[in-house]
Amino acid sequence: MKKEHLYTPGPVTVPPEVLLKFAQPMYHHRTPRFREMFSEVNAKLKTVFRTQSDIITFTSSGTGAMEASVVNFLSPGDKVVTINGGKFGERWTLLAKAFGVEFNEILIEWGTAPNPAELEKILADDPSIKAVYTELTETSTGTVFDIKAIGEIVAKTNAILVVDAVSGIGADDIHVDEWNVDVCVAGSQKAFMIPPGLAFMSVSEKAWKLADESKLPKFYFDAKKAKKAADQNNTPYTPAHTLLEGLNVSLSMIVDEGIDNVIARHAKLADAIREGAIALGLSLYSKSPSNALTSIVFEGIDAEELRKHLKADGISVAGGQNEAKGKIIRIAMMGYATEADVMTALSSLERALNKMGVEIEPGRGISAAQASLMK
Ligand SMILES: *Cc1c(COP(=O)(O)O)cnc(C)c1O
Repeated sequence: MKKEHLYTPGPVTVPPEVLLKFAQPMYHHRTPRFREMFSEVNAKLKTVFRTQSDIITFTSSGTGAMEASVVNFLSPGDKVVTINGGKFGERWTLLAKAFGVEFNEILIEWGTAPNPAELEKILADDPSIKAVYTELTETSTGTVFDIKAIGEIVAKTNAILVVDAVSGIGADDIHVDEWNVDVCVAGSQKAFMIPPGLAFMSVSEKAWKLADESKLPKFYFDAKKAKKAADQNNTPYTPAHTLLEGLNVSLSMIVDEGIDNVIARHAKLADAIREGAIALGLSLYSKSPSNALTSIVFEGIDAEELRKHLKADGISVAGGQNEAKGKIIRIAMMGYATEADVMTALSSLERALNKMGVEIEPGRGISAAQASLMK
């Protein structure tokens, strides 16, 4: 018999109360029932984003909202800055390329966070830059960026700040309004605790002004059209209202726990995993580790083989990508995650290392994690 535990950085485990919501009979979406539910969802999304701004919901995976945050605010030949410290930061550069936008890419070493001073200099040297595209949490490395510091810099310029918070929001802290984030992008299959299929994008007043001038082609991801409908608690096209029904439940779980408490829980779980890994003599891949997921480095063994041993034990974690492939595993405690999950993951890790012939003292990692959780 095998019992499955999903500790990947999306998709994540969906709580049973949400799963049950998906088993309800279908209803039509152009109805008061839909509009009431969508209005509840939008109010609760604002609490999680910590914003008063509009939030647009798209039926797509997270990348759809990333594309929307390019095509809705820019025109051909516009200049932007992209910050690339991994697979998702690289996606900003690829989007800029795909849409004929000129980009100045800040390429940073994997596992590190950007230096805000470097961005400040680039923006000061070129006042024509329209937007800065960055991550809150770079999922390929498990690194959290200092969005507050970046926001202070970008707010002083004409550029808008666009943050990919798909894996970060609800785990790593972000204050969209207070930190001057103009466009914040999120997705459903991460800390929102529902399956893939919905993407979100908050839009500030500064960003809406840019949207008025934007000439890049857009149709399905047209934010202005979506906002017009959202103002009536509607969507321009058929919404994934089954997913939205589930989201309404998972958002209530988040709001009831309190967003500050949710972030503190993720911080506590991530701390315990990190201390457990270090006690086992392992090291962390990121120099600025995220609460959403922890990347652990393995020397002398194949991390992909280790992942197979974990999988045989019912534990799914992510491996490394590109240069990190075979070198790291990424353990996400994202959304529906508790202290018991930390212990489950670490104990399986100890047994997997033992199976691979790595000499470890059994219980050393979980003991350190226990101590961390009991602090
Ligand atoms: C998961 C994720 C996305 C979205 O990817 P999709 O596969 O399109 O959902 C974007 N950015 C980050 C940082 C992510 O972790």
